[in-house]
Amino acid sequence: MSPSNRRSFLARGVALAALPAAASLTGGAFAGTASAETLPDYAPVPPSALGPALNEQGYYVGRVEKNLYWVTDGTYQAAFLTTREGVVLFDAPPTIGHNLQRAIDQIAAANGVSRKVTHIVYSHHHADHLGASSLFGKNVVRVGHAETKRLLVRDNDPARPVPDVTFEKQRTLRVGGERINLAWQGTNHTPDNSYIHLPDHGTLMLVDVVLPGWVPFYNFNLNEDVPASIAAPAKALSYPWKHFIGGHLGRLGTRDDVVVYQQYITDLTDNVKTALATVDPTPYFTKYGDNAWAGVKTYLDAVSDYAAAPVVKKYTGVLAAADVFTASHAFIILESIRLDLGYGSQIHP
Ligand SMILES: [Zn+2]
Repeated sequence: MSPSNRRSFLARGVALAALPAAASLTGGAFAGTASAETLPDYAPVPPSALGPALNEQGYYVGRVEKNLYWVTDGTYQAAFLTTREGVVLFDAPPTIGHNLQRAIDQIAAANGVSRKVTHIVYSHHHADHLGASSLFGKNVVRVGHAETKRLLVRDNDPARPVPDVTFEKQRTLRVGGERINLAWQGTNHTPDNSYIHLPDHGTLMLVDVVLPGWVPFYNFNLNEDVPASIAAPAKALSYPWKHFIGGHLGRLGTRDDVVVYQQYITDLTDNVKTALATVDPTPYFTKYGDNAWAGVKTYLDAVSDYAAAPVVKKYTGVLAAADVFTASHAFIILESIRLDLGYGSQIHP
């Protein structure tokens, strides 16, 4: 790994794991000492999960279809459309940061088109996908869902200027003769996460739900509405498209990627139900007595691990990091099955 690759790799790790917070808690030095010997080993990442190599500056830019392009730092993704009136940018992840304009400049110069970003479309309010928005200044039309605006007003982050143009259910954005269909179909990953469809480019962008080639990030992508997120991929597939932009990691997706993801979640949900019916809670509550939380934690961890085990086995080599995060997804789905669906809920006689 070159020094610049190593730097961007570390930057990404920091963004994902919020290491600065941990560093400040420990007075700037890490209290625990990790080493290659003590850290766990995980299954290798299947080559099918990886995307194209990054350039010296730490990004890759490629054509999706016609004048639609995507850019990645290997972990995050943005996209942009070159038009006769300027560039429409979709999301602005801070980890890609100034490489967004570099990628646009590279494509604009090659095609002899404008390099000026005139519009930024927001997928949802999260800082890890929008934190470079302010780099594009004030003279840009920012477009997002009404709830994205409400949440960004709340968050009051100068890096993420609020949308100038909002929509409630759907809106077709027309820029330089191009069509972009924006739709909100209810909460999923967040209350504001939107479907961005480019019908003339065979592309759907839906961020932080399906991450092509990979299992979701921690806790089912830090999910805010599990049943709605489980339903989201079917909504994505109801659109006509060939190319999928999931916001992560290093490659684009296909319809097959969405189907594999749906099967993974279905398998996990089935196994959670089996685990709830199989794992005996008695020893956990017997051992911990009046420490209710200790009993609950160890029991639910055991249920999650029991549910995850066959799914990890099935998807190792199919979806990257199945062995890293499946148990955490099992826990979130388990809680949704209990709390949203009422499974196992009993009224005291
Ligand atoms: Zn997000």
